Amino acid sequence: MEPMELNSTEGKSGVLYLVATPIGNLGDITLRALKILEEVDVVAAEDTRQTLKLLNHFELKKTLVSYYEHNKVEKGNYLIRQLMEGKSIALVSDAGTPGISDPGEDLVKLAIENGITVTMAPGAVAAVMGVVLSGLPAGRFVFEGFLPMNKRARRERIESLKKETRTMIFYEAPHKLSYTLKDLFEALGNRKIALARELTKKYEEFIRCTLEEAIARYESESPKGEFVIMLEGLEEGLLKEEKMKSWNEISIEEHLQNYISQGMSKKEAMKKVAEDRGLSKRDVYNSLLNES
Ligand code: SAM
Repeated sequence: MEPMELNSTEGKSGVLYLVATPIGNLGDITLRALKILEEVDVVAAEDTRQTLKLLNHFELKKTLVSYYEHNKVEKGNYLIRQLMEGKSIALVSDAGTPGISDPGEDLVKLAIENGITVTMAPGAVAAVMGVVLSGLPAGRFVFEGFLPMNKRARRERIESLKKETRTMIFYEAPHKLSYTLKDLFEALGNRKIALARELTKKYEEFIRCTLEEAIARYESESPKGEFVIMLEGLEEGLLKEEKMKSWNEISIEEHLQNYISQGMSKKEAMKKVAEDRGLSKRDVYNSLLNES
């Protein structure tokens, strides 16, 4: 553990600090976040009104610059110029960790491209809290953020998750929750789900059920507050079955040629085909003789 003062990048100008802020409970601000917010020249905020409330609460008076999705190109260049002139900047998002489902990611990229030191005061991330408390496997998970709104892109994204075996995490706004639950059910079938609502707030709640049950619940009640969705991945056994099914749609010869065209020797390809289909190499050899 290092004492707060000894972080080599702190206290110097020209540094971009990503500062995580609470996702609901002001008590979750870190000492380091407060120190950085106090010392920087400028605070770049996704929602200046929200950040002003936070700064006022901790009695910090700062110069605020708005930096959000629709001005990120123009303001990004402005902030980079300020950093190059030696100013230190703290970037905060609406809530939680900047760069997770907000334009922070673009500013980080721009700063790195311009050789600017980027560091962080870490803190709350709704996705991490959600998956850890979901009761679903948290050893391996995949963060999907918000699904695309465009119908086609959304369908393609969900389709691409059909064979995902890790727990999937999604962010969703309450008025779109039912729509998203139905889309997930239609494409991926019934699975275990955990809905984390209003994390760290007074009415924090976990709804652990199946997709079907969650859909039914929100048919009779309208979702309120902020939600993180955790969805069970495809069972490894079912994944094997799915793969087996798709191999059985092509002949053994086509299957073999598929591997050979990828650069495998005939011997290696035969071994792989046998493994994929749950057959012995002799079976594969005999089938090839029969097919020809
Ligand atoms: N940067 C944030 C983070 O670190 O988690 C996420 C920002 S994203 C624009 C907002 C989404 O995060 C919400 O729509 C919701 O899905 C999720 N979220 C944020 N705060 C939450 C909370 N207290 N409880 C549940 N979900 C939350």
